[in-house]
Amino acid sequence: MAKSVQTPKPQNAELEHERLKSLINSMADGVIATDEHTKIVLYNGAALNILDLNSDMSGKNIEAVIKLIDGNNQSVDIKKLVSQTKTSTANRDYKLVYPSGDSVNLYLSIAPVHLGYGAAGQKGFVVLLRDITREKSLEEERDEFISVVSHELRTPIAIAEGNISNALFIAQKEAKGKKTPIIDALSQAHDQINFLAGLINDLSTLSRAERGKLTVDVEAINAHELIEDLIKNYTPEAERKGLKLLKDLDPSLELLQSSKLYVREILQNFITNAIKYTEKGSVTIGANKKDKGIEFFVRDTGIGISKSDQEKVFDKFFRSEDFRTRQNSGTGLGLYVTVKLSRMIHADIDLKSEINKGSTFTIFIPDLQ
Ligand code: ADP
Repeated sequence: MAKSVQTPKPQNAELEHERLKSLINSMADGVIATDEHTKIVLYNGAALNILDLNSDMSGKNIEAVIKLIDGNNQSVDIKKLVSQTKTSTANRDYKLVYPSGDSVNLYLSIAPVHLGYGAAGQKGFVVLLRDITREKSLEEERDEFISVVSHELRTPIAIAEGNISNALFIAQKEAKGKKTPIIDALSQAHDQINFLAGLINDLSTLSRAERGKLTVDVEAINAHELIEDLIKNYTPEAERKGLKLLKDLDPSLELLQSSKLYVREILQNFITNAIKYTEKGSVTIGANKKDKGIEFFVRDTGIGISKSDQEKVFDKFFRSEDFRTRQNSGTGLGLYVTVKLSRMIHADIDLKSEINKGSTFTIFIPDLQ
């Protein structure tokens, strides 16, 4: 016979409350629990500490004790932010402002919870606060350093690339189509210097994005011209691998208002990957008209991406363990940078892929005017 299972209820609610209080009081992060109307029901000492308060917060509304501003120094409605949270969220971009005007960088996590047991349990929210000013300033220093170093490396790398490329051209001309050890050595040097140039470029874009230094210059983009130009630039690389570079363009495409620079950089990342991770077949670059924007896509017949990897390819430094990926040099930064850039222009990326069949990266670019 089946036994009925009951949710264990605390024998002594007071004792349970004390246990909970000492548990949250031992936490290093500030914890504030509120009811569903964001009225504070429980908090710990660390919360008082970070909020720089010494009075009782119970019964107060959260907006009375937490004043936030976002990255653009705009004040944030904390009551709305908390009460509209449906699933746990965390944010590292807000600042906590004190009445004196001073501020600290905040890690803020909000989770909707059931306070109490079973159906009688009240709904509410748990807000976690941590001062991350020091971490943020270290991150800023790191990004500043990367930005300066990558900028300084650009010129010597560009000069070396130009010289190697010229030397390769002369060696190929003199060898009259034959393969020589010098051509081999110069080709390898050229590949490596191109890899280095790509790495420096990704690092520089990334550090600017992380420091919020990227700006969006909106201009008219002619999708036809852009894709024609990309096809022209990437055809030699595709041909070297015996791949066809095709285009699939909706003829009725109109001008699009967005950042030409970022749209181009995003598509270039997709195309270089498609060529890199395709051994035979083709890479197709296309665009379709959509409501209030254009959807670009890059489709390949390459090695494909497994279901579990599809969730990770946009992560920083992620590279698939697939041995065919590892045969190609890469940094794992390209798609991460792509996501950063796409956020700047409010674009949405979608990936469809099947292992050994190929991948399609699609990006919807909205008209920004
Ligand atoms: P990188 O190419 O430098 O390794 P990316 O961030 O551009 O870095 O890509 C991350 C990973 O995603 C790659 O290492 C590869 O495993 C996978 N990937 C990206 N594009 C493709 C593609 N078109 N086909 C197969 N795998 C891909």
